Formats: sequence, C-alpha cells, structure tokens
Amino acid sequence: MVKQFLEKPYALSALGEGRYGEPYYNYLALLHLILVKRGGKQGFVVPGLIRNALKICKKLDLVFKKSDWYFVQSVGKDNPLSVETTEEIKKMTSGVKGRGNTEDILCGTDDKILERFYSGAISNERLGEFEQYPRCCIEYFTNNVWGDFVQAAEIVGDDPKNVGTILNIQRAADQDERIFQRIKKIQLEDVAGTRINFPYVFHQACSNCLSDAKNSPSAKLNREWSKVAQEFPELNNLIVQGARDEAEDKKRLWEKSWQEWIRDGCWG
Ligand SMILES: [Zn+2]
Repeated sequence: MVKQFLEKPYALSALGEGRYGEPYYNYLALLHLILVKRGGKQGFVVPGLIRNALKICKKLDLVFKKSDWYFVQSVGKDNPLSVETTEEIKKMTSGVKGRGNTEDILCGTDDKILERFYSGAISNERLGEFEQYPRCCIEYFTNNVWGDFVQAAEIVGDDPKNVGTILNIQRAADQDERIFQRIKKIQLEDVAGTRINFPYVFHQACSNCLSDAKNSPSAKLNREWSKVAQEFPELNNLIVQGARDEAEDKKRLWEKSWQEWIRDGCWG
C-alpha cells in the first residue's frame, strides 16, 4: 500500500495541497495514518478539502467518520485584550452551533474514540487531544494563534469596533513590520525548528520541547514514531529529506529584513 502511494502520491494534508503545497506533509500524513492503523496513535484528521480522504481510509481499512463539528476559537494565556474585544474576536472567528461542518474525516483506532470527538464544539485543544499532541505544544500553539490578534489590536486599537480590521491585518506582514517580525520568529523558530528537530510529528513543537530535543514530550513522540517510519525505508527517506527541505525553505523565505522580504515578493 505504501509502495502504491509513493508511485502515485496524492494530497492527504491541507499543507500538501495547492500551489505552495509541500509534498512532505502528504508523506507525513501517510505515516500518521499508518500509526493509527497500528494503534501507535489514537486518531488523525484529514481535512474536508482533501478529496482522497475516504479513499485512503478504505485502503488502510481504517475506522473513520465524517465530522459534525463547529470550530471554537480559544483565547491565549495572559490575554491583554479587553473582554469586549476578546468576545468579538471569538464570535467572528468561531463557527455556529448547530451548523456543523460535516466535511472533515476523522480516522481512529476504534469507533469509541471517533464517537467521543466527531461532533460538537471543536477547539484547538480538543483537536490536539484527539491527535495526541503534547499539552505544552497545544497551549503554545493557541498562544501563537491568539498572539496574531493581540499584535493586530496593538496596531489598530483594542476596541470591539476594530475587530474587522484586526482580522484583516493579523497576518498582513507586508503592512506593518511588527507583524512581520512576529511571523518571522514563528516561522524560523517554531515551524523550521520543529521540522529540523522532530521530522515525524505533525504539530508545531513548543519552545520548551525544542529546547530539550532529547527528552521533551515532542522528542519522545518523534522517537517512537521514527521507529515505525523506519520499517518503510522509502517513505522514511522522503520524510527525513522533506523535513530538511521544508526547514531550508522557511529559512530562504524568512531569514531577511522586512524590506528584503517585501522586495522578494513576501510569502514566496
Ligand atoms: Zn511541547
């Protein structure tokens, strides 16, 4: 099955799809599906936009279920924003209860685990729990996501009336150097750092995990999962090389000043 996939790979991850898609994430997704199959991991979500989600589940004979959940925005730790602005951001970035998105596919070790997670409010924390991401990394990721809103509010003003603008500019690194410096740090330290140290994990490792590349929770998962990957040498090579290339690509795109970054066409 792995051989077949490698002969004619297709998108299994949102990060592997589209113009800027990086095939590495599709190989990594296949590994995580194999881990679920082996019981090395309890679950994995294939995003709804991936047309081949059902195909791969059937090929691997995995238990799967369509999601019926709605996204709920989590607030970062030590949130400096006012209650009013915070509530408005949450409202505008969350889904609506009762209007579930039935398109994501959850793959799991058994029906029980799918029953537990497939419906209701889905936050970054709950998704991370399903995918068995380390708690430290889940919290760190939530803070990173919320930090985008905080940075934008600092620029346009902490007022619920500004939330529309906050959402529009939160990732607009070309509009304000503070946004650029924030994203640059995340791209180089967290995203590239994770690929260099932990090529087998899907999540973004937190700074604590990255500072202890041998014994942190992410390090332990990476080591455990690398053993399974090594049973499939061809796939393993693609993951190891792909992670290295991905980190190099991030450095190429972000190791520069704001002016150079804009001159070079921003995100790539
Ligand atoms: Zn961590």
